[in-house]
Amino acid sequence: MVQVYWANNLIQTEEKQFNHKVKIALINAGYKLRLIHHSTIDKVHLVKQISDESFIVEVQDIVNPLQIDSLLLEEFQSLEVARPFKIAIYDCFTDSVLYSHSGSRTEEVMAAEEYGVNWDINSYNFGVIFQPSNIYQRHFKSWIGSFGVIIILTSFFIYVINLIIRQKKLDEMKTDFINNMTHELKTPISTISLSSQVINNPNILEHPERLKRYSEIIQQENSRLKSQVERVLQIAFFEKQNIQLNFNKSNFKELISNAIKPFEILLEECNGEIKIDGNDIEVEVDEHHFTNVVSNLIDNAIKYAGAKAPSISVHWTVSGTNLKLSVKDNGIGMTKDSLKNIFKKFYRVHTGNVHDVKGFGIGLSYVDLMIEKHQGIINVKSELNKGTNFEITIPLKQVI
Ligand code: ADP
Repeated sequence: MVQVYWANNLIQTEEKQFNHKVKIALINAGYKLRLIHHSTIDKVHLVKQISDESFIVEVQDIVNPLQIDSLLLEEFQSLEVARPFKIAIYDCFTDSVLYSHSGSRTEEVMAAEEYGVNWDINSYNFGVIFQPSNIYQRHFKSWIGSFGVIIILTSFFIYVINLIIRQKKLDEMKTDFINNMTHELKTPISTISLSSQVINNPNILEHPERLKRYSEIIQQENSRLKSQVERVLQIAFFEKQNIQLNFNKSNFKELISNAIKPFEILLEECNGEIKIDGNDIEVEVDEHHFTNVVSNLIDNAIKYAGAKAPSISVHWTVSGTNLKLSVKDNGIGMTKDSLKNIFKKFYRVHTGNVHDVKGFGIGLSYVDLMIEKHQGIINVKSELNKGTNFEITIPLKQVI
């Protein structure tokens, strides 16, 4: 707006300056005309502007087109008035135009005598009409330049603001992550510490069932701690630039069985079930990372089961040269909006102020990265309160 305001001001000033110069040039021309003819009529200062482009000089003197033409050219040149113009000679008694032509010393001007007027005897007024100038066209280049700069600055500004917002979000996610991680690691440590205190009590030997119970708790918490540390290691994995996977032929059924083993106790405790269904096939995968992928999906299926007892089905088939794996649950599901983001690092679906399910928000981003490394694709279908189905397709053999 400031730019437009100043541009407008500039145009107005230019117009005023132009009118001013033209008036001075016309007054000078009138004076000179008077001097040439030793005229006594003191009206040379009477320059009237009739419109934006037309001026009349009321000299009431002998006005020869040839003479006036050369006088005007001289004056306009010295005052740097460069706009093309026409001159007109008026008979002030009959108020009619006797002569009108472009202001230049052409043969046509010389032929003015053909008008049948005796210029050297009668008194006339004369006028100048300029061609309308397109100011907007004249300033077009500089305007394009300044608008270009404004657009560049605005886009840069928007980009920086976006960057700041993204950075702020990432910062919040990282703080959340650190808080979650500390909590997740502290809980099993303190449970293990309490249980070992109980076991250390000499009286415990009199209660073998309690001893068994507490050693089970230690084992369980230990495996929980192990899986949390595994998660943290998964994050460190993202930071590595050139991740090299170790592909080996693996029995897929065995791999899945190994992946679900750590969850058996947990599922028993919450009356959940897990069904596996698929043939004994050989697939080329990185066993360690692919087991992590499956256990991340199963872990989520249990974590996000909601109030229901988790019912999970792990199913795989061979389709052409690919293996298709599906991990389906009957949990809380997700909205379409959440689905767009779940593979982003540190993203967790907002649950308002209820933080009943702990997590770091990296499980699925790790899954996504690993599937990509296996030259595969992952799709997810989910319906709120009905359940979620993760479908993975990877080649049976890795092509390098
Ligand atoms: P988190 O550590 O939070 O579980 P993930 O990357 O594993 O991180 O998952 C990201 C988000 O996706 C979770 O916060 C959760 O809201 C949602 N999510 C993942 N798996 C499921 C599922 N099986 N059912 C419902 N929501 C899920």
